Formats: sequence, structure tokens, C-alpha cells
Amino acid sequence: MNAIGPDPVEISRDDGKALLLGLVDDVLDLVYDSPDVTHSGRSRAQVESLLLETMPSTGVDHRNLSLFVRSVFAPHVRSYRHPLHFGHQRPAPSLASTAADMLNAATNTTVSVYEAGPISVALEATVQRWMRELFGLPATASATFTNGGSESTLTALLCARERWQRANPDNDFRTGFILIGAECHYCVERSARVLGFPVERVCKIATNDRGQTCLGALEIAVERIARSGSSVVAVVVNAGSTAVAAFDDIAAIGAVAHATGAWLHVDATHGGAAVFVPELRDRLDGIECADSFAWDPHKLMWVSPPCACLFVRCRKDLHLALSQDLDHASYIVDRTDRDGLDLDVNESLEWTLACTRQCSALKVYLSVLLYGADATALRVRRVCALALELARNVARDDRFDLLCHPEFNIVCFRFLTKDDRPDTFNRRLRDRIAVHSTCYLTGASVHGVYWLRAQFTSEATTSTHLHLLLDEIAREASALSTHPFPHPATEPQHADD
Ligand SMILES: *Cc1c(COP(=O)(O)O)cnc(C)c1O
Repeated sequence: MNAIGPDPVEISRDDGKALLLGLVDDVLDLVYDSPDVTHSGRSRAQVESLLLETMPSTGVDHRNLSLFVRSVFAPHVRSYRHPLHFGHQRPAPSLASTAADMLNAATNTTVSVYEAGPISVALEATVQRWMRELFGLPATASATFTNGGSESTLTALLCARERWQRANPDNDFRTGFILIGAECHYCVERSARVLGFPVERVCKIATNDRGQTCLGALEIAVERIARSGSSVVAVVVNAGSTAVAAFDDIAAIGAVAHATGAWLHVDATHGGAAVFVPELRDRLDGIECADSFAWDPHKLMWVSPPCACLFVRCRKDLHLALSQDLDHASYIVDRTDRDGLDLDVNESLEWTLACTRQCSALKVYLSVLLYGADATALRVRRVCALALELARNVARDDRFDLLCHPEFNIVCFRFLTKDDRPDTFNRRLRDRIAVHSTCYLTGASVHGVYWLRAQFTSEATTSTHLHLLLDEIAREASALSTHPFPHPATEPQHADD
């Protein structure tokens, strides 16, 4: 082995070892010692004031890293491991995921082309094969890693647009429609807009009171568009919607979409994890017939972001949508003067929008290596059972109203107030809970009504905490009724993921 060269910047190996071992202790504290509160309760300005205001031109001794971690970073982390943490769809990453992150970060693994990262490309190919098998897809389907569900959606709609344009060369795709479930994540509309679809051609299909896309409403929209002489480019529905984790009837919706020649994309970013649990698997029935679907292991596979997958049923569609631009990328894939050579390059960057990507497959690989695939089933099953238990508790509790019994790991409910503006009251209540640090949850509007929204991901939550949560909310509600103002100064956060 060669010793590290005369790098004028990097610290010595001995100092590096001291730095990393110290960091390991700090990380283990963050992972294994649950803090008493869900966060420090400091305002954004207060936290920003702890950071360097300007860039220093010289660095400090490496021992200052621990000081930074202990006094600045760790105290102001939002604790996703806290038993009363019910916010956002991102779980605390497992230690296997942390190990993968460390290896990735230390080696700058990339997955763009094999010669730039042999082990990372091989890892990705292996995990992609596992994923295709997990979802029952044929080898002709394509599974790729992306930087998140939003990028997966953009790529899927690009494939849909390109396929439609190939089939309708004399027509402009802007005359076609994109039909999306009204409960779809905002990234669907945004992707359509980025791809050039006029806003008025992106139509929302009504959902029922459980948040599922109505088949009848979809049929009516499809018929109306056909009668007007236009066509549907894509239909997008959910397997685990953002607000309530509602699962659409994929098989029935797929039949309508395919009969009209549209591309069916299923947003299983959140709910795809049901694939691990035999008794939840039927929520995904029909997904193998979708033209594309997205699933984020960085949600319910307990790995850090980014770790997201896009599945496209027909590889050719993905290839035709993306790879033609590579003819000019001789710095990566040189296709010139290769007559007679094998031109079937098949490099990862032909299948993704991003060029440089982290080897996020390593996080899945190490999770499965250390815990086994059944561990994800165990965790998903556990959080879904807790969600159902909270819903049952809420249904029996006359202080609260329940939106519906959950199909997955999200429960929407609200405090029954005598206030004549119950929506405003519940919004203020949620903001108040977010500022205080005892517990944490988000909120969401469904059919114009505002609900508190508890998502289950923390491994520390037990049945006892479900009662604590409701009591804490009721306590905050009673404080809010007595002292509606002044409201603590903060930037309110709303469900954004
Ligand atoms: C989280 C989520 C997204 C966005 O995915 P990112 O990985 O955050 O980009 C899209 N759709 C649904 C249903 C989601 O739950």
C-alpha cells in the first residue's frame, strides 16, 4: 500500500483515527440515547446564530469537530427516533444504512459508468435485480435508482410523453392530458409543468372520503377527453398517498388507462414497502401492470436519503426517453469510431436523469445483509399495527374525530373543538405542538378539511405512547383555548412530504 502523498490539507492518519473514533461515539449517542424531547425548541434564527457567519480562511484543530457535533449539531437534530415523533415520512436510518453512508462518503462511489465504480455498479445491478423479483417484474422491466420520488416521477412522465409523441408524430403532446388523483403528491403536477404540459391539461380526478381516486370520475374524464378528440398521455395514481397513505385500485384504474392508450404511473414512493408484508401485499395488486412506478427505500426501508427506485415495465421506453443525448457525451461514453465494436454500452447513466449519483443501493444491500429482508417486513408490520391501534383509540375518544381507519402507517384525526373555526383551531394546535418539543406530528388538508396527521416510523413508539400523544394534544388544545395568543414565534411547517 502507498502512504497518502504530500497532501497539504488532509490531517495525519493518527489524527484522522482520533477524529473518526470520536465521531463514532457521538453518532452512537445520537442513535442509541433517545433525548427527552423531540427537538430543542430553538427558533431558526437561534440555531443559525450558532453557525459561523462567514467562511474562515484557515481551519481549526481537528478536535474542534467533536465540539461542533456535541454543542451545535446533535442538540438541534429533530429526533426521528423519539417515541413521540410522528412527523414526516422519513424514518431514522438504521445502523446498516449509516455504515453504508460512511463507506460511500469515504470512497466517492459513483454509479454512472462501470469503469468509474466497479463495485458500486455491480451492487446497484444486484439490488435492482432483487427489486424486480420482489415486485414480480419480468427481466425486460427496468429498475433504476434515482435521487428521490420526485425525480422518479419526472423521469416516468418524460417516458410517457416521449412514448406518446413517438406514437403521434403529427400531433403535439401539449394537446394531450395528464390525469392525476386529487391526492397525488405535489411533485406530479410540478413534473408535468417542467415537462411542458400546460397547467390546464393536468386534471385532478376526485377522490373518495378515504382519499382513493374514484374510478367513475376517471372514466368520465377519459370519455370526455376522447369525445373532444384529444387524448390522455398519462394517468398517475397512488399506492400510499401523501396525506393518508390511501391505496388506489391499481388494476381497475390501469385497465381504464390502458384502454385509452395512456401511460399508467403509480406513485408507490411511500406504500411500495407493503411488498415486504404478505398481509399488506394486496394493496399493491396490479402494480406489475403499470408502465412505471416509484418506490423510495428511504421511506419505509429505514435507510437514509437519497435511496429511491423507479421501475419501468418496458426498458425500451426508458432508454428512448433518455439515452439519445449521450451521443454528444464522448467524455463519458464514447460512441464514435466504434464500427464493429459492441455498441450496447448499457451503463447506468443511460437510464437516469442524474449523471453523478451516490451508490444508494449499498444502503439496501447492507440492510439486507445485516438484518435480512424479513426485518423490513417486521418493521412495516409493526408501524402499521400501531397506526391502526391509534385510530381505534381515537375512534373511542370523544375528544377527537377520526378521518378514516388507516390502510397503512398514517392516521389523520382532529381535535373536536367548540371554536367556530375548527380548521384554524387545529392548524394552530399543530403549530403549537411543533414548537413545543414533547411530541411531533404534521397536518394535511383532505377535501378542504384540516387534519392532524400522525405517521409511524419510530422504533421506540409503543402502545403507551399512543395514549401520551392524545393526552398531550388535548393538553395543548386546552392551553390554546385559554390563551390563543400570543402564539410562539416560529415558521410553521406543513406536510410537505
Ligand atoms: C415522499 C413522497 C414523494 C416525494 O418523494 P421524495 O423522495 O421526497 O422526492 C412523492 N409521492 C409520495 C406519495 C410520497 O410519499
